[in-house]
Amino acid sequence: MSSLAQNIISAIHDVVGIEPVSLHEPRFPGNESKYVQECLDSTYVSSVGKFVDHFEEELVNFTGAKYVIAVVNGTAALHMSLLLAGVENSDEVLIPALTFVATANAIRYCGAVPHFVDSEESTLGVDPCALREYLKSITEQHSGFCINRRTKRRIRALVPVHIFGHPCRLEEIMAVTRDFNLVLIEDAAESLGSLYQGQHTGTFGLFGTLSFNGNKTITTGGGGAILTDDSELAKRARHLTTTAKLQHRWEYLHDEVGFNYRLPNLNAALGYAQMECLSEFLASKRRLFERYRDAFLDVPQVRLFMEPDFCRSNYWLQTLLMDESISDQRDVVLEDTNDADLMTRPAWTLMHRLEPYRDFPSMQLPVAKSLASRIINIPSSSGLA
Ligand SMILES: *Cc1c(COP(=O)(O)O)cnc(C)c1O
Repeated sequence: MSSLAQNIISAIHDVVGIEPVSLHEPRFPGNESKYVQECLDSTYVSSVGKFVDHFEEELVNFTGAKYVIAVVNGTAALHMSLLLAGVENSDEVLIPALTFVATANAIRYCGAVPHFVDSEESTLGVDPCALREYLKSITEQHSGFCINRRTKRRIRALVPVHIFGHPCRLEEIMAVTRDFNLVLIEDAAESLGSLYQGQHTGTFGLFGTLSFNGNKTITTGGGGAILTDDSELAKRARHLTTTAKLQHRWEYLHDEVGFNYRLPNLNAALGYAQMECLSEFLASKRRLFERYRDAFLDVPQVRLFMEPDFCRSNYWLQTLLMDESISDQRDVVLEDTNDADLMTRPAWTLMHRLEPYRDFPSMQLPVAKSLASRIINIPSSSGLA
């Protein structure tokens, strides 16, 4: 085994012990069973019930968003947000090439075109300076819209992603969306509990979206949420995600093509209990980060990613960055750590390299390419601290 892999394995063992560990496990230490049982006893397991309201209220209180609409998953939350933001067939939407595939998929569900942008090493998110220069060179403004001069299509929105829970540079990103007439939608699927200058991520754009998949900071089994401060859009989101059904005592009247995207009460019962544990989860994840930080201090050629000083990260997934000079050893490290029953993973394959996303517009991606070749996520469950 290479000494690099050996050093990494010892550092992880120092923190988590020598038992096999997975990358991210859900935990149910609170009232999960109690509320789920209560939900079953009520028979309201589906789209109607008090737990959906309770869960949404807790998310409003925690994030500071004015309105929260709970939905079936984070991808559906993105899809709805894009539609309600006015993204139409053939519009382009800017997203980082370094993200989970759901961000790109939701854009395709609207018939729109993902347009890939580069990332920066200090946040792992969209690089606002490089993006501004790029947009200056390829776009022009036309009747209040940003037009891609090369493709003649309208660039409607920017969807930055808070990668592994680390907030991206929102102030500079908002200046870009303002200057180029773009709608801002934050993919905050990974950043529940992460703050940018003291304000919760996902509350800066027209919409923000959360995910409560099994591997996220809290889980509802599957689930997601739309955050917005706009009361009209919140009303529209509720309507569209519940088959666009009009209120009536017995008639089935639907005034547009709606979606069956509302979060079931059964899942919300789980989510309501998980919200009671969230502060403890976040404290544990920060403790885990601190332990890893100490353990990796003396490991040469790798560093543990640390939150930038303008934000507070939830440390959803702990991230090792290998030095550029040794990125060719990444796969060996992945193999050796997984052989040692320590679950580690690379960053996602960059979007423009995936079969369904090969032929879409993209800026040069030097930093995203470099990061994708050097990132290794290590075991991150809050239970490990
Ligand atoms: C998890 C995730 C999503 C999608 O969430 P689902 O609930 O799995 O649909 C979207 N974007 C990012 C960046 C994610 O990590």
